[in-house]
Amino acid sequence: MANQNIPYKIYLSESELPRQWYNLRADMKNKPAPLLNPETLQPMTAADLAPVFCEELVAQELDDTTPFIDIPSEIRDYYKMYRPAPLMRAYRLEQALGTPAKIYYKFEGNNTSGSHKLNSAIAQAYYAKKQGLKGVTTETGAGQWGTALSMACAYFGLDCKVYMVKVSYEQKPFRREVMRTYGADVTPSPSDTTAVGRKILAEFPGTGGSLGCAISEAVEAATTREGYRYVLGSVLSQVMLHQSVIGLETKAALDKYDITPDIIIGCAGGGSNLGGLIAPFMGQKLRGEADYRFIAVEPASCPSLTRGKYAYDFCDTGMVCPLAKMYTLGSGFIPAPNHAGGLRYHGMSSVLSQLYDDGLMEARSVEQTAVFAAAEQFARIEGILPAPESSHAIKVAVDEALACKRSGEEKTIVFGLTGTGYFDMTAYERYNNGEMSDYIPTDEDLARGFAGLPQFPGSMN
Ligand SMILES: *Cc1c(COP(=O)(O)O)cnc(C)c1O
Repeated sequence: MANQNIPYKIYLSESELPRQWYNLRADMKNKPAPLLNPETLQPMTAADLAPVFCEELVAQELDDTTPFIDIPSEIRDYYKMYRPAPLMRAYRLEQALGTPAKIYYKFEGNNTSGSHKLNSAIAQAYYAKKQGLKGVTTETGAGQWGTALSMACAYFGLDCKVYMVKVSYEQKPFRREVMRTYGADVTPSPSDTTAVGRKILAEFPGTGGSLGCAISEAVEAATTREGYRYVLGSVLSQVMLHQSVIGLETKAALDKYDITPDIIIGCAGGGSNLGGLIAPFMGQKLRGEADYRFIAVEPASCPSLTRGKYAYDFCDTGMVCPLAKMYTLGSGFIPAPNHAGGLRYHGMSSVLSQLYDDGLMEARSVEQTAVFAAAEQFARIEGILPAPESSHAIKVAVDEALACKRSGEEKTIVFGLTGTGYFDMTAYERYNNGEMSDYIPTDEDLARGFAGLPQFPGSMN
């Protein structure tokens, strides 16, 4: 091994846990486009957003200029229960691949909810409590976000109402019960508890629901109840801000051993883990202090960056949320079944969308059978059973390490291992039985999604 003194796990002490989040937008010359009010097409103001989101989170959402934002001590105390997360050196994977590349991964699966989503859930629950609210509402698809939020709400004593996509509610009873164990109230969506749910049920009786429907129901449930606000686990700039703790810790761990990465890789659903992981490194790149390659990995079945359009779009199916400019497949695009539920969103963080459009980040799409092959290879070699979402990053990290093997380059590769896959065993079962197939939308499929994009002057570039 080239450098014996780099351990398998680089740990930071609790006192090295970041004291501030880093707001990448402050260093962007081209700022992400503002959220627009769907009725007036004017930028959303704090007053427009206040009925839906917590005050402090609205301030963070609209803040494009403050580079560092203090992490309140109550949030740091909770972070200390499962952070700092280790940065792992994949010595065994390097050996198995026979690559001269050095591979590191930041492991975010060390908490019961099993993913990085808790980093933002705890922040959002804290600000809701601080505002004196009774509770929060949200949607969940595969269930990771709902689980993380349930844990955070239990910690702060907040009521938590989760609208769970009906097919997942029925097919993922274990996730549902974890949420209920933490005290959340879980409703299958669409439901008859909201006007928008009743409308969708009347139009499409027997529908299994979608993330977009569940968002519309959760927003209605928050805005029609005294003392409730809506919270979202990805896509928004505030969520990426909270997730910067991933990148800040990664950078601190690498700096300890004078390691400079060449390539940083993450999976991209709504973009929060990837945005958080790359934030401090991208900041250096934007300030001209260093250069790195960044690769966003998405499923070939839901290719927002690699095949989407950069345009204003709705964030939800019910079209009640603000318009966001992002790489999107259209809010009406329904991705074919892909087992990485967390990567099935039609759009992408407006921050990452702008960086990608400016050529500062690359994107790649991968097919799910290849992703599960990489996941199993990784599990057998490194021991961790990865979430299907995370395995998209594994697949591309392995591809890059094999490219180094061919070229003889000793590149340093860092990727985000966002979570564990224990609740995704039916997907693994399908793969193990040889029953998994790849779904790639045709250009016609994508055209149908694009046809639903809102059209107004300036809606596209
Ligand atoms: C939700 C989720 C993702 C994708 O969300 P991002 O906002 O793109 O980070 C990735 N990995 C896991 C394990 C998830 O739960």
